[in-house]
Amino acid sequence: MVSQNISGADVLIVGGGPAGLSAAIALRQKGASVLVTDALHPPIDKACGEGLMPDSRVELGRLGITLGPADGREFRGIHFANRNNGRMDCVTAQFANGVGLGVRRVRLHEILVERAEAAGVRLMWGVHVELGSNGEVQVDGQPCSYQHVIGADGQGSAVRKWSGLDAGSTISRRFGFRRHFRIRPWSENVEVHWGRCGQAYLTPVGEDEVCIATIAGDPQARMDQVVDSIPFLRDALNGQDTTSRQRGAVTTTRRLRCVAKGRVALIGDASGSADAITGEGLAMVFRQAHLLARAIELGDLSHYASGHAAILEMPMTMARVMLLMDRYPMFRNRAMRVLASEPALFSRMLGVHIGEESLPRFVRERGLHLGWRILVPSTVSI
Ligand SMILES: Cc1cc2nc3c(=O)[nH]c(=O)nc-3n(C[C@H](O)[C@H](O)[C@H](O)COP(=O)(O)OP(=O)(O)OC[C@H]3O[C@@H](n4cnc5c(N)ncnc54)[C@H](O)[C@@H]3O)c2cc1C
Repeated sequence: MVSQNISGADVLIVGGGPAGLSAAIALRQKGASVLVTDALHPPIDKACGEGLMPDSRVELGRLGITLGPADGREFRGIHFANRNNGRMDCVTAQFANGVGLGVRRVRLHEILVERAEAAGVRLMWGVHVELGSNGEVQVDGQPCSYQHVIGADGQGSAVRKWSGLDAGSTISRRFGFRRHFRIRPWSENVEVHWGRCGQAYLTPVGEDEVCIATIAGDPQARMDQVVDSIPFLRDALNGQDTTSRQRGAVTTTRRLRCVAKGRVALIGDASGSADAITGEGLAMVFRQAHLLARAIELGDLSHYASGHAAILEMPMTMARVMLLMDRYPMFRNRAMRVLASEPALFSRMLGVHIGEESLPRFVRERGLHLGWRILVPSTVSI
């Protein structure tokens, strides 16, 4: 077990978003003393689609957090819709096990903060962290001792640069926005609408509230442009009251060469990410938190580095497929036509996406069929 350190903490976590807080809770579960610092004050809001898939809820449960309908709005599956020259292709798949939950980002943050406090995590908000070239860390000008530093400071992580863990490959960089509307959700699913200049997805987050998130590759594309390119959504949102201001954020598909070095480890968006369209960002964060806590307990960060790569694998694969659909409308139109005509295929893909079915098995049993039908659109089933 990790020993107590009076002047600082066993583990200093820079960043008190979902990654920093869930790592802190998991580390407290292992008995470590933990200090979390963040430049902002809670509850911290962020542009996010706000959908927790069933697997995210399971991981949260392991942190001692059970979210229910009182915290947001449950959803039962995923719906894809694509318009191509006046033709609409839609497909829906429901989760085989469990339900997802749409939860306002600030609510999720409040819950994580409450749980961290109850677990005995020390939290410092609105503080400035300085990372010295000699490895010294200062919090608001005061030297802070630590055994491990965790960078949970998001996409632009300063800890990542400071620790020399920046090397890696960036596959995509896109631009997201989110806004809430006072509308009674018309669907029990998260809906992903594919438009000419990006995707918009719609997550029910309350009885009378939905979260709309848009993602586009063009840095100039604004939320309104993406929504306007999707007639169904444009009409549904037209004239509706908004319940939040618009927020933007960058989303990347990025893999780092290594996520841990010496006494430093990275978690969450700081440690690499899969495009937000996958909706798996938070599930990955919670999985990484458990893994990191276990690695620190074992005194072996290489355990974290190898497990982290495995956690990122499936969301990265899905992100690649979705990015292909974004970049190549012909591929998207064909893929959507096939999926709309074979919803069972889409159900299995969703199962693979959230870890209920193995990718090799899916590829073995249906990969050739799917690839063939996309390449040769007029074919019947093989
Ligand atoms: C448009 C969009 C839609 C998304 N939709 C979904 C979705 O539907 N479902 C899902 O699961 N995921 C979604 N994601 C991904 C998800 O939001 C992220 O994976 C998640 O926020 C990562 O959490 P994090 O704690 O790593 O980073 P962040 O949430 O960015 O938190 C980082 C924290 O670090 C702090 N910080 C930064 N620098 C410093 C510093 N120098 N000192 C102190 N503190 C610092 C910040 O203030 C912040 O609080 C979406 C992302 C985007 C952009």
